[in-house]
Amino acid sequence: MTFDFELLVIGAGSGGVRASRMAAARGIRTAVVENRYLGGTCVNVGCVPKKLFVYASEYAEKFEEAAGFGVEGSLNRFDWSTLRDNKTNEIKRLNGIYNNLLENSGVTILNGSASLLDAHTVKVGDQTYSAERILIATGGWPVKPDIPGAELGITSNEVFYLDEFPQRVVIVGGGYIAVEFAGIFNGLGAEAHLLYRGEQILRGFDQDVRDFASAQIAHKGVRIHTETDIKRIDKLDDGTLRCQLNNGELLDADCVMFATGRRPQTDGLNLEGVGVEVRDNGTIEVDHFFRTSVPSIYALGDVIGTPQLTPVALAQAMKLVAHWYAGDQEPMTYDNIPTAVFCQPNIATVGLTEEQAVKRYGDDITVFESSFRPMKHTISGLPERTLMKLIVHTSSDRVVGVHMVGAEAGEIIQGLAVAVKAGATKAVFDSTIGIHPTAAEEFVTMR
Ligand code: FAD
Ligand code: NDP
Repeated sequence: MTFDFELLVIGAGSGGVRASRMAAARGIRTAVVENRYLGGTCVNVGCVPKKLFVYASEYAEKFEEAAGFGVEGSLNRFDWSTLRDNKTNEIKRLNGIYNNLLENSGVTILNGSASLLDAHTVKVGDQTYSAERILIATGGWPVKPDIPGAELGITSNEVFYLDEFPQRVVIVGGGYIAVEFAGIFNGLGAEAHLLYRGEQILRGFDQDVRDFASAQIAHKGVRIHTETDIKRIDKLDDGTLRCQLNNGELLDADCVMFATGRRPQTDGLNLEGVGVEVRDNGTIEVDHFFRTSVPSIYALGDVIGTPQLTPVALAQAMKLVAHWYAGDQEPMTYDNIPTAVFCQPNIATVGLTEEQAVKRYGDDITVFESSFRPMKHTISGLPERTLMKLIVHTSSDRVVGVHMVGAEAGEIIQGLAVAVKAGATKAVFDSTIGIHPTAAEEFVTMR
């Protein structure tokens, strides 16, 4: 049987673009279907525009820092429309680059929403295409809690395109997006409230990291309300959004943002119709090589419920293409995935939290921790502190967890992730010469 394509990918996001390009580069006849924006969530409403906003949010504090160094300046004005529109132009530029990357690799781009007709056929608009293999990489979509007035709140999809900069913001959630956007709004001058239903924000991170980061974020000005949930939102005549909280309090805002997680984006794919099995939470069930319950249909990225991070989707795409076309039989592993939260200061981590290490190794662990005032702030006068933490499996001496809350933590932990992945021992850390004076050298001097 001949097919229109050897590989048809649904979704041109992080995973879909990488899989299409890598397959086409091997001479595989490949098409990718996209119904919204090339580059997917990360490029359009995720990592990239978020990081640009994070940069913007850090300038005000730099003026504060400068005074202690004898450099005088002040923030005169922040113009939201300049930031928003420059960001949008940059995203448009990146969309063009993605288009060229795909075309230059020989990938056919099909614009529209894909729906599965059978194990080898996909409908896009009123066209049908056959493919030997189909790869679903349709990502996720933000969810809002089911409360009265939820429609008055926005999500991360809309936050990048607001008409006006809100002076009072309520952010619901305590995960990555909530914490990052609380920092962005606070840094840009808004009164930022973060409402989290649990005891401490950033569930899943090391407990010391959560406590330390939460205190730092609060020092910067974010109002963190733990054990607090939003019950309803009403719009007043002057446009104010009045939030009713579970503790009976009322909180007025110009903008309410829900950062309460994301669900797999599978609407309209007709998964059930063709027999692709999904789990109770809507993620697509796959085996070690991303094969769904229909042998010719594969899935990867956020839609399969693995850690929702761009580099994970990229790695999965590379793995799958190598498996298909180069005989790679090693399944993907998910240990030691480094990750960062781009709040102020950054949080970054690789490996086990102390709680996970105790669960795995009992008392056969040694924890090294250091908390200090970064050199810059001895003169800037800002109260910001840094936390560094190493978790060592005592009997093997292997470093199994590295955590940091502090400036440039993301940049620092990326390098250390290589060491952890390579199985470096504490003795190797200790014998590594530091770079002085840096904050990062603390990781090789902790005793
Ligand atoms: P996506 O990138 O979501 O791509 C899916 C694509 O499929 C989309 O373009 C969509 O339009 C398309 N699509 C869906 N259905 C169909 C259909 N039926 N037909 C055709 N096309 C379809 N990760 C990080 O590593 N670092 C970060 O700093 C970071 N920041 C983030 C900030 C925010 C605000 C958000 C929301 C996410 C962030 N992420 C970050 C997560 C990251 O964006 C995702 O993990 C990543 O984009 C997942 O890639 P994917 O290929 O699975 O899906
Ligand atoms: P997360 O899953 O990280 O966090 C969701 C938060 O919302 C949690 O604090 C959760 O609480 C809370 N929550 C869930 N449902 C409700 C509800 N009904 N009412 C109140 N609170 C609720 O999701 P995000 O939306 O923040 O981000 C999605 C994913 O995108 C992240 O998990 C991450 O993988 C990725 N991302 C990565 C970034 C990075 O790498 N820097 C940046 C941004 C996103 P609880 O903890 O109690 O369940």
